[in-house]
Amino acid sequence: TTDDVKGCFRRNAFVILTVLAVIVGIILGFGLRPYKMSYREVKYFSFPGELLMRMLQMLVLPLLVSSLITGMAALDSRASGKMGMRAVVYYTTTTIIAVFIGIVMVLIIHPGRGSKDEFTKQEKIEQVSPADAFLDLIRYEFKTQYAKRVVTVKVLVNETLFSLNNGSQELKREEVIPVLGTVNGINALGLVVFSMCFGFIIGNMKEQGQPLRDFFDCLNEAIMRLVAIIMWYAPLGIMFLIAGKIVEMDDISEMGGQLGMYTITVIIGLLIHAVIVLPSLYFLVTRKNPFVFIAGLLQALVTALGTSSSSATLPITFRCLEENNHVDKRVTRFVLPVGATINMDGTALYEALAAIFIAQVNDMDLNFGEILTISITATAASIGAAGIPQAGLVTMVIVLTSVGLPTDDITLIIAVDWFLDRLRTTTNVLGDSIGAGIVEHLSRHELHATDPEIANSVVEE
Ligand code: ASP
Repeated sequence: TTDDVKGCFRRNAFVILTVLAVIVGIILGFGLRPYKMSYREVKYFSFPGELLMRMLQMLVLPLLVSSLITGMAALDSRASGKMGMRAVVYYTTTTIIAVFIGIVMVLIIHPGRGSKDEFTKQEKIEQVSPADAFLDLIRYEFKTQYAKRVVTVKVLVNETLFSLNNGSQELKREEVIPVLGTVNGINALGLVVFSMCFGFIIGNMKEQGQPLRDFFDCLNEAIMRLVAIIMWYAPLGIMFLIAGKIVEMDDISEMGGQLGMYTITVIIGLLIHAVIVLPSLYFLVTRKNPFVFIAGLLQALVTALGTSSSSATLPITFRCLEENNHVDKRVTRFVLPVGATINMDGTALYEALAAIFIAQVNDMDLNFGEILTISITATAASIGAAGIPQAGLVTMVIVLTSVGLPTDDITLIIAVDWFLDRLRTTTNVLGDSIGAGIVEHLSRHELHATDPEIANSVVEE
């Protein structure tokens, strides 16, 4: 029918445009590098990319809230309980595997050679104790060096849901943004918990809850329509994001040998997880071709690469899973927002690997207990990290302090983090999406059995 033809064209147009965006972005970026643009010129040049970033971020909050509330409300408590369990088991398993891969890779390749000469010497700052670092994770605070002092950055005053950052007077707002657990200064994890509870309650309110269910359902639908429009702009934005970053990046040839080896180690680790482990898992559970599933996610993966933020990518991830891969909306709404907030395989792999690399650079031998500590804290740090650019670098503090490594050595790896961040974000988004596919498959019986009235209100377009 004409609808099929249209759908097919639309899907392929997206694939072509997305691939073109990446290729043209790379060519444009390297082509313009010799002109050595000033910081200001680069900012002007990448403005179309910044615009995409802002459009997506604008949608994240209402999308997160409306999808979780309607997702919870549409499932009976038995179904949501089971689905939640499956999601948690999936998140835990894949994160542990990711950490394991990271540790094995860095131990085998051993990129750090026990000399910091290649790196610029850093001034030592006061150490933060592991216990404090853990408590800070819960408080949504962290300590950092600013103007040679250790200051506490209070990311969020947890008492109110929407309070913007007003914690530290010492730091300018720009410097506070890339921190623990917040998206646009809002405590994402807190919002996830709140929305789930709220959705659960109005799901149980029978007739009385119908206006609210309709309201959030309609809000969600409206946001998704906005996303559909933004999808057409996305390739252009991605092109400029990629080109702009290539123009402004430091000279690759100046990258030290250790740092180069470290970069390669991270890339290999992430590739093993994204290309071998996750697809195999998907195949084992669903017996379907994982690469067909991944092909449907192409635009989300490229957006992750371009924005280095899994929460900014969330709207596109929703769209790809629901439109291209036809994953049940009750599953995506329930599983994706949670996944984007807490399930970060790429970040977990990266943090464990980076911590051990820093130990190697410091010529510190780690025993089994310390490596175990690193794997546990790397998992915690990946859960605590927000889906925003370079959040993983900040939560590294927790991992390093847990085994007494100098936190200021994070500066050793900052030079390549913008790049590795993009790759781990892509891995994070892939992990969340495959999780949705797996949870849907495992929950197919409950999904069929759910109250058809509630199910229809969500499923029908
Ligand atoms: N940028 C990553 C993300 O959004 C988090 C990280 O820094 O590892 O998923």
